[in-house]
Amino acid sequence: MEFGFSEEQEAFRKSVRDFIARETTREMDRELDATSEFPVELARKMADAGFYGVPFPPAYGGSGGGPIEFAILCDELAYGSEAAAACFLMPVFFAGEMILLNGSEEQKREYLPKIISGDLRGCFALTEPDSGSDAASITTHAELDPSGEHWVLNGHKALISGVDVADFMMTVVRTGPPEPKKYSNMTILMVDRSLPGVEHRKIEKMGSKAIGLFEIFFDDVRVPRSMVIGAEQAVGTGWAQMWNSLDMERIMVATLYAATARRALDDAVEYAKQRKQFGQTIGNFQAIHHQLASMKIECDAASLMAYRAAWLKHAGKPCSMEGAEAKVFATEVAQRVTQQGMQVMGGWGYTMDFDMQRYVRSALLGPIGMGTNHIQRTIIAKLMEVF
Ligand SMILES: Cc1cc2nc3c(=O)[nH]c(=O)nc-3n(C[C@H](O)[C@H](O)[C@H](O)COP(=O)(O)OP(=O)(O)OC[C@H]3O[C@@H](n4cnc5c(N)ncnc54)[C@H](O)[C@@H]3O)c2cc1C
Repeated sequence: MEFGFSEEQEAFRKSVRDFIARETTREMDRELDATSEFPVELARKMADAGFYGVPFPPAYGGSGGGPIEFAILCDELAYGSEAAAACFLMPVFFAGEMILLNGSEEQKREYLPKIISGDLRGCFALTEPDSGSDAASITTHAELDPSGEHWVLNGHKALISGVDVADFMMTVVRTGPPEPKKYSNMTILMVDRSLPGVEHRKIEKMGSKAIGLFEIFFDDVRVPRSMVIGAEQAVGTGWAQMWNSLDMERIMVATLYAATARRALDDAVEYAKQRKQFGQTIGNFQAIHHQLASMKIECDAASLMAYRAAWLKHAGKPCSMEGAEAKVFATEVAQRVTQQGMQVMGGWGYTMDFDMQRYVRSALLGPIGMGTNHIQRTIIAKLMEVF
């Protein structure tokens, strides 16, 4: 057994770190949090630096990194700058991965190079007002028009990230009845956001604000038949297509929140070394140094679980269980550690003068997004064959 990264992986980690140090600042993250704006300029710089191509094969313009390089990138971006992570994760990785795993060869050649160069961004629209965890109960639907050239799309999506900056929306729809299974006849359409009949409305949220949250309304939207992900033969297979991307999604979320926790820990340590009470730095008090040590143990465990899942994926081994475990653990560690960080900083941790409150707000999303932790635990129990 070998613990550790190759020289190339360490060099890659350093290059991401250097980029973050050069191109981002705490002030920038604070400002984007306050204004809820997507960092367009930073997104362009990240594409130019080649980061968008990391998880994609050279045949489509990527650099052919594997799950470990992908995890390193997520880790460093999320640790360094929430805004940088927002630029990459949903509009680039998520949209691109969906095409890479499920698209036709023609779709991969057409769209992946544009996603990697930063010229095209996407979002993923599954959730609806009445269909969240019970994702197979969606009602947004599409029927072929009489000419057979277009899918006519009607329905309503909710809680969708990044719609305003997306050129296209990977939209999960019903293209037939929920039979013989509830998840039968689901299809993923790549919908151009500028098509007539598409409207969106912003939903205000409490954290992770560099990427916005939206509802989308589809009213007789005519989507060309060629925009079915995976082409004609993939109509009705949307559920299986979504399952294909779950491993990398969980690795991504676990790495992201393990990094958020580590960032909160490092800020808390810095504060404990500076802040003086009773004539000495608060890091001298056993209550504080024990708390920081406990946070460190949790951060390391979360990070190890995330990289274990990435390593399994890299080795071509099953990792659905380990990915789900890492997602649950890292997101819950991020909640605990950011709140403990706030405790270490006392009243100042609660103020907007410091970043700890932003980490707390971001961490609260972890157990909810990308499959809630209740659902992940059910998946783990199922894989354990408990039921
Ligand atoms: C900031 C943010 C960004 C998002 N971005 C996107 C996006 O880009 N695209 C997208 O499609 N969706 C997105 N979502 C939606 C997200 O995936 C859903 O919020 C999530 O799947 C949960 O659905 P829900 O909110 O409807 O909760 P519900 O499903 O109503 O669940 C409410 C509670 O009940 C629990 N619960 C439900 N069913 C069960 C069960 N069977 N067993 C045990 N507990 C259960 C849940 O765990 C949860 O605690 C986003 C959400 C947020 C908050």
